[in-house]
Amino acid sequence: MTVFENMIQRGHEQVTFFSDPHSGLKVIIAIHNTTLGPALGGCRMWQYANEAEALVDVLRLSKGMTYKAAISGLNLGGGKAVIIGNSKKDKSEILFRTFGRFVEGLGGRYITAEDVGTSVKDMEWVRTETKHVTGISRALGGSGDPSVVTAYGVYIGMKAAVKSKLNRSSLDGLKIGIQGLGHVGMFLVEYLSKDGAEIFVTDIDNNLIDKAVKDFGVKAVSVEDIYSLDIDVFAPCALGAILNDTTIPLLKCSIIAGGANNQLENSHKHGKDLMAKGVLVSPDYVINAGGLINVSNELEGYNRERAFNQAEGIYDTLMAIFKRSKEADIPTNIASDYLAEERIRMLSELKSIYTSKRKKNRI
Ligand code: NAD
Repeated sequence: MTVFENMIQRGHEQVTFFSDPHSGLKVIIAIHNTTLGPALGGCRMWQYANEAEALVDVLRLSKGMTYKAAISGLNLGGGKAVIIGNSKKDKSEILFRTFGRFVEGLGGRYITAEDVGTSVKDMEWVRTETKHVTGISRALGGSGDPSVVTAYGVYIGMKAAVKSKLNRSSLDGLKIGIQGLGHVGMFLVEYLSKDGAEIFVTDIDNNLIDKAVKDFGVKAVSVEDIYSLDIDVFAPCALGAILNDTTIPLLKCSIIAGGANNQLENSHKHGKDLMAKGVLVSPDYVINAGGLINVSNELEGYNRERAFNQAEGIYDTLMAIFKRSKEADIPTNIASDYLAEERIRMLSELKSIYTSKRKKNRI
């Protein structure tokens, strides 16, 4: 498929390739949709097997950001950048400052942030060249590590799912399994343990398991056993594609509510399979939007309390999705996509209303 065919298939506005032999930077920036506002999305640094793989990744990820911002009620569009390179070996000040110059050249249509393979420090280099960057340290007026807000959003979202599926307002006494005790998973354990839930955890890192057992009195299970536990809620907080043909038949939970991205290996098929099995899925890009909500707050002057308050909106957003899913008899991930698309369509109509601002711009 050509670049234009790829763009047309996914509805992209703009894809820009930048190359700079001096710094060795090769980056693709994809802007999917800016109806709601400038395209915000992280900058991933990855050793792609080839350029085609990098292009597909940036197109897929930037489209996902459009939906995440739209469903979260943010006035932001979807974008993403991928730097082709090895994040362990190829990073330098000149590389990220060059990237910052390219971002500046887009005039604010794209706002960058950290992602897989990039860090707060890298974004601070970017910031020396452009103001269109978020995810910088709190010491420099940024929002710092977003994981605690992401975990809080997952916790709030889990409550919405429990209310909708089990008609309970509290997590007290519920059995909850958490896969992955990294940045998000460990904060989630902390929130859940305060609510009296019985928590089961797994990770490939035994040190993290020992810490969770010691600090929060949770029960450890093996990496394999997490799927077949007799629990109420399963919270994937590690890898993507873990809900698939192999794992779905093993599940005994009635709710999926976790922070990991792209949990459904095949969003159409596995969304349907889980619905048929009576499992309520909290769509990942909705329940894990706390991180995006957090960095988006930097654009207006960061305020931690406001970021947490905004993340609480995930409760009502999920309730609206569950309602639409029930009414239309469609999987929750599809209901969520429809609601996101409806918000974009509705607000695009605003542009047809005459304002003096519009007149000025047209002269
Ligand atoms: P992390 O790397 O800190 O933690 C992931 C954890 O999963 C690690 O402890 C790792 O050892 C563990 N793990 C890996 N493979 C595993 C397996 N097979 N079984 C059990 N555990 C395994 O990452 P994170 O920042 O906590 O993010 C977790 C997920 O949430 C990722 O999918 C990420 O994309 C998504 N997410 C994170 C944020 C955020 O704010 N950090 C925001 C949105 C989405």
